[in-house]
Amino acid sequence: MSLFDNTLKQIEQAASIMSLDKDIVTILSSPKKILQVSLPIRMDSGELKVFQGFRVQHNDVAGPFKGGIRYHQQVDMHEVKALATWMTMKCSVVGIPLGGAKGGIIVDPKTLSKRELEKLTRKYVDSIEAFIGPELDVPAPDVNTTPEIMAWIADEYSKLQKRNKLGVVTGKPLEVGGSQGRGDATSRGGYYILNEVAKAKGINPAETRVVIQGFGNAGSHMARILQEEGYKILGVSDSRGGVYSPSGIDVNCITKCKKENGSVLQCECGNDIKTITNQELLEQDCDILILAALENQVTAENADNVKAKIVLELANGPVTPEADEIFKNKGIMVVPDILANAGGVTVSYFEIVQNEMNYYWSEEEVQAKLEPIMINAWNRVFDIQKEFDCTLRQAGFISAMRRLEAKLKARGLE
Ligand code: NAD
Repeated sequence: MSLFDNTLKQIEQAASIMSLDKDIVTILSSPKKILQVSLPIRMDSGELKVFQGFRVQHNDVAGPFKGGIRYHQQVDMHEVKALATWMTMKCSVVGIPLGGAKGGIIVDPKTLSKRELEKLTRKYVDSIEAFIGPELDVPAPDVNTTPEIMAWIADEYSKLQKRNKLGVVTGKPLEVGGSQGRGDATSRGGYYILNEVAKAKGINPAETRVVIQGFGNAGSHMARILQEEGYKILGVSDSRGGVYSPSGIDVNCITKCKKENGSVLQCECGNDIKTITNQELLEQDCDILILAALENQVTAENADNVKAKIVLELANGPVTPEADEIFKNKGIMVVPDILANAGGVTVSYFEIVQNEMNYYWSEEEVQAKLEPIMINAWNRVFDIQKEFDCTLRQAGFISAMRRLEAKLKARGLE
Protein backbone atom coordinates (compact mmCIF):
# COMPACT_ATOMS: atom_id res chain seq x y z
CA MET A 1 0.00 0.00 0.00
CA SER A 2 1.29 3.46 -0.85
CA LEU A 3 1.11 6.37 1.56
CA PHE A 4 -1.69 7.85 -0.56
CA ASP A 5 -3.63 4.57 -0.21
CA ASN A 6 -3.33 4.99 3.56
CA THR A 7 -4.74 8.51 3.25
CA LEU A 8 -7.68 7.30 1.16
CA LYS A 9 -8.37 4.63 3.77
CA GLN A 10 -8.47 7.29 6.49
CA ILE A 11 -10.91 9.38 4.43
CA GLU A 12 -13.13 6.36 3.74
CA GLN A 13 -13.19 5.24 7.39
CA ALA A 14 -14.21 8.66 8.67
CA ALA A 15 -16.67 9.19 5.81
CA SER A 16 -18.39 5.93 6.66
CA ILE A 17 -18.67 6.81 10.37
CA MET A 18 -20.19 10.24 9.63
CA SER A 19 -22.23 9.00 6.60
CA LEU A 20 -20.61 11.60 4.38
CA ASP A 21 -22.14 12.29 0.96
CA LYS A 22 -20.36 10.04 -1.61
CA ASP A 23 -19.78 13.00 -3.96
CA ILE A 24 -17.73 14.74 -1.29
CA VAL A 25 -15.66 11.58 -0.74
CA THR A 26 -15.05 11.37 -4.51
CA ILE A 27 -13.86 14.98 -4.68
CA LEU A 28 -11.61 14.71 -1.62
CA SER A 29 -10.07 11.48 -2.93
CA SER A 30 -8.52 13.14 -6.01
CA PRO A 31 -5.97 15.98 -5.98
CA LYS A 32 -7.03 18.88 -8.22
CA LYS A 33 -3.67 19.30 -9.94
CA ILE A 34 -0.44 17.32 -10.13
CA LEU A 35 2.77 18.74 -11.50
CA GLN A 36 6.08 17.00 -12.15
CA VAL A 37 9.09 18.99 -13.34
CA SER A 38 12.62 18.08 -14.47
CA LEU A 39 15.27 20.36 -13.05
CA PRO A 40 18.64 20.34 -14.89
CA ILE A 41 21.45 21.68 -12.69
CA ARG A 42 25.12 22.21 -13.56
CA MET A 43 26.90 20.81 -10.50
CA ASP A 44 30.09 22.34 -9.06
CA SER A 45 32.02 19.49 -10.72
CA GLY A 46 30.82 20.60 -14.17
CA GLU A 47 28.51 17.58 -14.51
CA LEU A 48 24.87 18.23 -15.54
CA LYS A 49 22.34 16.46 -13.32
CA VAL A 50 18.56 16.37 -13.74
CA PHE A 51 16.49 16.30 -10.53
CA GLN A 52 12.77 15.52 -10.34
CA GLY A 53 10.43 17.92 -8.55
CA PHE A 54 6.74 17.68 -7.70
CA ARG A 55 3.89 19.92 -6.61
CA VAL A 56 0.48 18.48 -5.80
CA GLN A 57 -2.48 20.79 -5.24
CA HIS A 58 -5.13 18.76 -3.47
CA ASN A 59 -8.05 21.07 -2.75
CA ASP A 60 -8.59 24.84 -2.51
CA VAL A 61 -12.25 25.18 -1.59
CA ALA A 62 -11.25 26.79 1.73
CA GLY A 63 -8.65 29.17 0.26
CA PRO A 64 -5.29 29.19 -1.56
CA PHE A 65 -3.41 25.87 -1.65
CA LYS A 66 -0.90 25.59 1.18
CA GLY A 67 1.83 23.10 2.04
CA GLY A 68 5.52 22.53 2.53
CA ILE A 69 8.32 21.47 0.22
CA ARG A 70 10.36 18.40 1.12
CA TYR A 71 13.91 17.69 -0.06
CA HIS A 72 14.57 13.97 0.42
CA GLN A 73 15.97 11.06 -1.55
CA GLN A 74 12.79 9.05 -0.96
CA VAL A 75 10.27 11.64 -2.13
CA ASP A 76 7.78 10.19 -4.62
CA MET A 77 4.45 11.19 -6.11
CA HIS A 78 2.38 8.96 -3.81
CA GLU A 79 4.01 10.56 -0.79
CA VAL A 80 3.43 14.09 -2.09
CA LYS A 81 -0.22 13.30 -2.89
CA ALA A 82 -0.75 11.95 0.63
CA LEU A 83 0.94 14.93 2.26
CA ALA A 84 -1.10 17.37 0.11
CA THR A 85 -4.36 15.65 1.12
CA TRP A 86 -3.43 15.79 4.81
CA MET A 87 -2.76 19.53 4.38
CA THR A 88 -6.36 20.07 3.19
CA MET A 89 -7.60 18.15 6.24
CA LYS A 90 -5.22 19.92 8.62
CA CYS A 91 -6.20 23.44 7.53
CA SER A 92 -9.82 22.45 7.91
CA VAL A 93 -9.29 20.92 11.38
CA VAL A 94 -8.01 24.28 12.64
CA GLY A 95 -10.51 26.20 10.51
CA ILE A 96 -8.09 28.47 8.65
CA PRO A 97 -8.98 29.73 5.16
CA LEU A 98 -6.39 27.70 3.24
CA GLY A 99 -6.43 24.58 1.10
CA GLY A 100 -3.94 21.73 0.84
CA ALA A 101 -0.84 21.20 -1.30
CA LYS A 102 2.64 19.74 -0.99
CA GLY A 103 5.87 19.77 -2.96
CA GLY A 104 9.08 17.84 -3.06
CA ILE A 105 12.33 17.24 -4.87
CA ILE A 106 14.07 13.86 -5.01
CA VAL A 107 17.43 14.85 -3.56
CA ASP A 108 19.58 14.30 -0.50
CA PRO A 109 20.47 17.93 0.23
CA LYS A 110 23.38 16.84 2.42
CA THR A 111 25.19 15.77 -0.79
CA LEU A 112 24.85 19.25 -2.38
CA SER A 113 27.01 22.33 -1.87
CA LYS A 114 25.16 25.45 -0.74
CA ARG A 115 25.55 26.90 -4.24
CA GLU A 116 24.02 23.77 -5.82
CA LEU A 117 21.17 23.81 -3.29
CA GLU A 118 20.35 27.44 -4.10
CA LYS A 119 20.47 26.77 -7.87
CA LEU A 120 18.16 23.77 -7.47
CA THR A 121 15.71 25.75 -5.34
CA ARG A 122 15.60 28.69 -7.77
CA LYS A 123 15.20 26.32 -10.74
CA TYR A 124 12.24 24.64 -8.97
CA VAL A 125 10.61 28.06 -8.47
CA ASP A 126 11.21 28.97 -12.15
CA SER A 127 9.51 25.71 -13.15
CA ILE A 128 6.41 26.06 -10.96
CA GLU A 129 6.06 29.90 -11.03
CA ALA A 130 2.75 29.82 -12.88
CA PHE A 131 1.26 27.50 -10.26
CA ILE A 132 2.20 29.35 -7.06
CA GLY A 133 1.54 32.81 -5.61
CA PRO A 134 0.08 34.41 -2.48
CA GLU A 135 -3.50 33.99 -3.77
CA LEU A 136 -2.91 30.68 -5.48
CA ASP A 137 -0.51 28.29 -3.71
CA VAL A 138 1.88 29.11 -0.88
CA PRO A 139 4.74 26.67 -0.11
CA ALA A 140 6.53 26.38 3.27
CA PRO A 141 9.35 24.38 4.90
CA ASP A 142 9.18 20.64 5.46
CA VAL A 143 11.81 17.93 5.91
CA ASN A 144 15.27 19.27 5.01
CA THR A 145 14.06 22.68 3.89
CA THR A 146 14.99 25.72 5.96
CA PRO A 147 14.12 29.42 6.37
CA GLU A 148 17.12 30.22 4.15
CA ILE A 149 15.65 28.07 1.35
CA MET A 150 12.30 29.86 1.85
CA ALA A 151 14.12 33.20 1.43
CA TRP A 152 15.54 32.03 -1.93
CA ILE A 153 12.02 31.01 -3.02
CA ALA A 154 10.58 34.42 -2.04
CA ASP A 155 13.44 36.22 -3.81
CA GLU A 156 13.26 34.17 -7.01
CA TYR A 157 9.50 34.47 -7.28
CA SER A 158 9.64 38.24 -6.60
CA LYS A 159 12.28 38.62 -9.33
CA LEU A 160 10.15 36.70 -11.83
CA GLN A 161 7.09 38.80 -10.90
CA LYS A 162 9.15 42.05 -10.90
CA ARG A 163 7.70 43.11 -7.55
CA ASN A 164 7.97 42.09 -3.90
CA LYS A 165 5.76 39.04 -3.43
CA LEU A 166 7.04 37.78 -0.11
CA GLY A 167 3.71 36.14 0.70
CA VAL A 168 4.42 33.48 -1.96
CA VAL A 169 6.07 31.33 0.70
CA THR A 170 6.05 31.07 4.51
CA GLY A 171 8.62 30.00 7.06
CA LYS A 172 10.91 32.80 5.85
CA PRO A 173 13.60 34.41 8.03
CA LEU A 174 12.41 37.53 9.88
CA GLU A 175 14.56 39.75 7.60
CA VAL A 176 12.59 38.54 4.57
CA GLY A 177 9.06 38.94 5.96
CA GLY A 178 8.93 35.90 8.22
CA SER A 179 6.66 35.77 11.24
CA GLN A 180 7.76 35.80 14.83
CA GLY A 181 7.03 32.41 16.35
CA ARG A 182 7.07 30.45 13.05
CA GLY A 183 10.27 28.58 13.98
CA ASP A 184 8.71 26.60 16.80
CA ALA A 185 5.05 26.96 15.76
CA THR A 186 4.55 23.28 14.89
CA SER A 187 5.87 22.18 18.26
CA ARG A 188 4.13 24.94 20.22
CA GLY A 189 0.84 24.02 18.58
CA GLY A 190 1.55 20.37 19.47
CA TYR A 191 2.27 21.42 23.03
CA TYR A 192 -1.05 23.31 23.30
CA ILE A 193 -2.82 20.14 22.14
CA LEU A 194 -0.83 17.93 24.54
CA ASN A 195 -1.76 20.31 27.34
CA GLU A 196 -5.45 19.69 26.60
CA VAL A 197 -4.82 15.93 26.48
CA ALA A 198 -3.05 16.21 29.84
CA LYS A 199 -6.05 18.05 31.33
CA ALA A 200 -8.47 15.45 29.93
CA LYS A 201 -6.38 12.55 31.24
CA GLY A 202 -5.21 14.10 34.51
CA ILE A 203 -1.52 14.00 33.54
CA ASN A 204 1.07 15.66 35.73
CA PRO A 205 4.06 16.80 33.59
CA ALA A 206 6.58 16.23 36.40
CA GLU A 207 5.67 12.54 36.49
CA THR A 208 5.48 12.10 32.72
CA ARG A 209 8.29 10.53 30.71
CA VAL A 210 8.61 11.44 27.04
CA VAL A 211 10.54 9.95 24.12
CA ILE A 212 10.85 11.89 20.85
CA GLN A 213 11.77 10.47 17.44
CA GLY A 214 13.30 13.10 15.10
CA PHE A 215 15.36 16.03 16.31
CA GLY A 216 14.83 18.52 13.48
CA ASN A 217 12.56 21.54 13.47
CA ALA A 218 9.52 19.80 14.94
CA GLY A 219 11.26 17.36 17.34
CA SER A 220 13.95 19.61 18.80
CA HIS A 221 11.60 22.51 19.62
CA MET A 222 9.10 20.07 21.13
CA ALA A 223 11.82 18.58 23.34
CA ARG A 224 12.81 22.07 24.53
CA ILE A 225 9.24 23.27 25.16
CA LEU A 226 8.27 20.09 27.03
CA GLN A 227 11.39 20.20 29.20
CA GLU A 228 10.66 23.88 29.99
CA GLU A 229 7.11 22.85 30.95
CA GLY A 230 8.39 20.24 33.40
CA TYR A 231 8.12 17.01 31.39
CA LYS A 232 10.94 14.49 31.65
CA ILE A 233 12.60 13.81 28.29
CA LEU A 234 14.16 10.33 28.34
CA GLY A 235 15.16 9.81 24.72
CA VAL A 236 15.59 11.52 21.34
CA SER A 237 16.82 10.43 17.92
CA ASP A 238 17.72 11.60 14.43
CA SER A 239 18.33 9.77 11.15
CA ARG A 240 21.53 8.21 12.53
CA GLY A 241 20.01 6.77 15.74
CA GLY A 242 19.11 7.83 19.23
CA VAL A 243 20.11 8.27 22.86
CA TYR A 244 18.13 7.27 25.96
CA SER A 245 18.58 7.69 29.68
CA PRO A 246 16.05 6.32 32.20
CA SER A 247 16.71 9.29 34.47
CA GLY A 248 16.28 11.92 31.74
CA ILE A 249 18.43 13.82 29.27
CA ASP A 250 19.36 17.50 29.14
CA VAL A 251 17.75 18.89 25.98
CA ASN A 252 19.85 22.08 25.87
CA CYS A 253 22.99 19.95 26.04
CA ILE A 254 21.70 17.66 23.22
CA THR A 255 20.81 20.66 21.05
CA LYS A 256 24.29 22.14 21.48
CA CYS A 257 25.94 18.77 20.91
CA LYS A 258 23.90 18.10 17.72
CA LYS A 259 24.86 21.53 16.39
CA GLU A 260 28.53 20.77 16.93
CA ASN A 261 28.58 17.11 15.81
CA GLY A 262 25.67 16.90 13.34
CA SER A 263 23.85 14.18 15.32
CA VAL A 264 22.42 13.39 18.75
CA LEU A 265 24.59 10.25 18.83
CA GLN A 266 27.55 10.30 21.22
CA CYS A 267 25.98 13.23 23.13
CA GLU A 268 26.83 12.69 26.80
CA CYS A 269 23.84 14.62 28.10
CA GLY A 270 22.44 12.45 30.92
CA ASN A 271 23.32 9.83 33.51
CA ASP A 272 23.73 6.28 32.18
CA ILE A 273 22.91 7.53 28.69
CA LYS A 274 22.96 4.80 26.07
CA THR A 275 23.06 4.86 22.29
CA ILE A 276 20.17 3.02 20.61
CA THR A 277 18.72 2.52 17.14
CA ASN A 278 15.61 4.32 15.98
CA GLN A 279 13.71 1.06 16.19
CA GLU A 280 14.78 0.60 19.82
CA LEU A 281 13.88 4.21 20.63
CA LEU A 282 10.25 3.63 19.65
CA GLU A 283 10.05 0.69 22.04
CA GLN A 284 11.62 2.30 25.14
CA ASP A 285 9.75 2.59 28.40
CA CYS A 286 7.91 5.97 28.50
CA ASP A 287 4.47 7.54 28.92
CA ILE A 288 4.32 9.67 25.78
CA LEU A 289 5.94 8.88 22.43
CA ILE A 290 6.27 11.85 20.09
CA LEU A 291 6.89 11.03 16.42
CA ALA A 292 8.62 13.93 14.68
CA ALA A 293 10.60 12.37 11.82
CA LEU A 294 9.01 10.68 8.82
CA GLU A 295 5.96 8.64 7.82
CA ASN A 296 5.45 4.88 8.35
CA GLN A 297 7.59 4.63 11.48
CA VAL A 298 5.10 2.62 13.54
CA THR A 299 3.63 -0.27 11.58
CA ALA A 300 1.96 -3.66 12.16
CA GLU A 301 5.48 -5.00 12.82
CA ASN A 302 6.43 -2.83 15.79
CA ALA A 303 3.18 -1.28 17.15
CA ASP A 304 2.79 -4.07 19.67
CA ASN A 305 6.17 -3.23 21.20
CA VAL A 306 5.35 0.44 21.86
CA LYS A 307 5.06 0.99 25.61
CA ALA A 308 3.79 4.58 25.63
CA LYS A 309 0.16 5.23 26.55
CA ILE A 310 -0.09 8.30 24.32
CA VAL A 311 1.42 8.72 20.84
CA LEU A 312 1.52 12.26 19.46
CA GLU A 313 2.17 12.72 15.73
CA LEU A 314 4.18 15.84 15.01
CA ALA A 315 5.35 14.15 11.80
CA ASN A 316 2.88 13.49 9.01
CA GLY A 317 1.70 9.89 8.72
CA PRO A 318 4.14 8.20 11.15
CA VAL A 319 1.55 5.61 12.26
CA THR A 320 0.12 3.30 9.57
CA PRO A 321 -3.59 2.33 9.53
CA GLU A 322 -2.64 -1.20 10.71
CA ALA A 323 -0.70 0.21 13.66
CA ASP A 324 -3.62 2.54 14.42
CA GLU A 325 -5.84 -0.54 14.76
CA ILE A 326 -3.36 -2.20 17.14
CA PHE A 327 -3.15 0.98 19.27
CA LYS A 328 -6.95 1.24 19.36
CA ASN A 329 -7.21 -2.34 20.63
CA LYS A 330 -4.55 -1.72 23.26
CA GLY A 331 -6.17 1.53 24.43
CA ILE A 332 -3.22 3.68 23.33
CA MET A 333 -4.34 7.19 22.43
CA VAL A 334 -2.99 8.51 19.11
CA VAL A 335 -3.14 12.29 18.77
CA PRO A 336 -3.24 12.56 14.97
CA ASP A 337 -0.97 14.61 12.73
CA ILE A 338 -3.77 16.68 11.19
CA LEU A 339 -4.48 18.07 14.67
CA ALA A 340 -1.17 17.74 16.54
CA ASN A 341 1.09 19.43 13.97
CA ALA A 342 -1.36 22.03 12.67
CA GLY A 343 0.35 24.85 14.60
CA GLY A 344 2.91 25.18 11.81
CA VAL A 345 0.43 25.92 9.07
CA THR A 346 -1.57 28.14 11.41
CA VAL A 347 1.39 30.45 11.99
CA SER A 348 2.15 30.20 8.25
CA TYR A 349 -1.35 31.57 7.75
CA PHE A 350 -0.46 34.42 10.16
CA GLU A 351 2.69 35.03 8.09
CA ILE A 352 0.63 35.41 4.88
CA VAL A 353 -1.73 37.81 6.68
CA GLN A 354 1.20 39.89 7.98
CA ASN A 355 2.83 39.96 4.53
CA GLU A 356 -0.43 41.13 2.95
CA MET A 357 -0.85 43.91 5.55
CA ASN A 358 2.90 44.65 5.58
CA TYR A 359 2.44 45.01 9.33
CA TYR A 360 4.07 42.61 11.77
CA TRP A 361 3.13 41.10 15.14
CA SER A 362 5.25 40.32 18.20
CA GLU A 363 5.96 36.73 19.24
CA GLU A 364 3.55 37.17 22.16
CA GLU A 365 0.78 38.27 19.77
CA VAL A 366 1.44 35.27 17.51
CA GLN A 367 1.29 32.81 20.41
CA ALA A 368 -1.81 34.50 21.83
CA LYS A 369 -3.54 34.02 18.46
CA LEU A 370 -2.28 30.44 17.99
CA GLU A 371 -3.33 29.01 21.35
CA PRO A 372 -7.13 29.51 21.08
CA ILE A 373 -7.14 28.13 17.52
CA MET A 374 -5.42 24.95 18.69
CA ILE A 375 -7.62 24.61 21.77
CA ASN A 376 -10.82 25.13 19.74
CA ALA A 377 -9.65 22.52 17.23
CA TRP A 378 -8.97 20.08 20.08
CA ASN A 379 -12.37 20.71 21.71
CA ARG A 380 -14.19 20.16 18.43
CA VAL A 381 -12.28 16.94 17.67
CA PHE A 382 -12.65 15.64 21.25
CA ASP A 383 -16.42 16.29 21.14
CA ILE A 384 -16.70 14.44 17.83
CA GLN A 385 -14.68 11.54 19.25
CA LYS A 386 -17.22 11.23 22.08
CA GLU A 387 -20.17 11.70 19.69
CA PHE A 388 -19.16 8.77 17.46
CA ASP A 389 -17.09 6.75 19.96
CA CYS A 390 -14.29 6.69 17.38
CA THR A 391 -10.53 7.35 17.40
CA LEU A 392 -9.12 10.86 17.55
CA ARG A 393 -7.84 10.42 13.98
CA GLN A 394 -11.30 9.52 12.73
CA ALA A 395 -12.71 12.46 14.70
CA GLY A 396 -10.09 14.76 13.15
CA PHE A 397 -11.09 13.70 9.64
CA ILE A 398 -14.79 14.08 10.49
CA SER A 399 -14.16 17.55 11.90
CA ALA A 400 -12.26 18.51 8.73
CA MET A 401 -14.67 16.94 6.28
CA ARG A 402 -17.75 18.50 7.90
CA ARG A 403 -16.31 21.95 7.23
CA LEU A 404 -15.13 20.97 3.72
CA GLU A 405 -18.53 19.51 2.86
CA ALA A 406 -20.27 22.74 3.86
CA LYS A 407 -17.88 24.81 1.72
CA LEU A 408 -18.03 22.46 -1.28
CA LYS A 409 -21.82 22.39 -1.22
CA ALA A 410 -22.06 26.17 -0.83
CA ARG A 411 -19.74 26.75 -3.81
CA GLY A 412 -20.85 23.87 -6.05
CA LEU A 413 -19.19 20.56 -6.76
CA GLU A 414 -18.47 20.80 -10.50
P1 NAD B 1 13.60 18.37 9.70
O1 NAD B 1 14.27 18.10 8.42
O2 NAD B 1 13.87 19.67 10.38
O3 NAD B 1 13.89 17.21 10.75
C1 NAD B 1 13.66 15.86 10.48
C2 NAD B 1 14.33 15.08 11.59
O4 NAD B 1 14.02 13.69 11.45
C3 NAD B 1 15.86 15.18 11.58
O5 NAD B 1 16.33 15.22 12.91
C4 NAD B 1 16.27 13.88 10.91
O6 NAD B 1 17.58 13.48 11.25
C5 NAD B 1 15.25 12.94 11.50
N1 NAD B 1 15.06 11.71 10.75
C6 NAD B 1 15.04 11.51 9.43
N2 NAD B 1 14.85 10.20 9.16
C7 NAD B 1 14.72 9.59 10.35
C8 NAD B 1 14.49 8.26 10.76
N3 NAD B 1 14.35 7.27 9.87
N4 NAD B 1 14.41 7.99 12.07
C9 NAD B 1 14.55 8.97 12.98
N5 NAD B 1 14.77 10.24 12.66
C10 NAD B 1 14.85 10.54 11.36
O7 NAD B 1 12.05 18.21 9.41
P2 NAD B 1 10.83 18.77 10.27
O8 NAD B 1 10.38 20.02 9.64
O9 NAD B 1 11.12 18.71 11.70
O10 NAD B 1 9.72 17.67 9.89
C11 NAD B 1 9.59 16.45 10.61
C12 NAD B 1 8.18 15.93 10.40
O11 NAD B 1 7.25 16.91 10.86
C13 NAD B 1 7.80 15.66 8.95
O12 NAD B 1 6.92 14.57 8.88
C14 NAD B 1 7.09 16.91 8.54
O13 NAD B 1 6.21 16.71 7.44
C15 NAD B 1 6.35 17.21 9.82
N6 NAD B 1 5.89 18.60 9.95
C16 NAD B 1 6.78 19.62 9.98
C17 NAD B 1 6.29 20.92 10.07
C18 NAD B 1 7.21 22.11 10.13
O14 NAD B 1 6.70 23.22 10.33
N7 NAD B 1 8.50 21.96 9.99
C19 NAD B 1 4.91 21.15 10.15
C20 NAD B 1 4.04 20.08 10.16
C21 NAD B 1 4.55 18.80 10.05
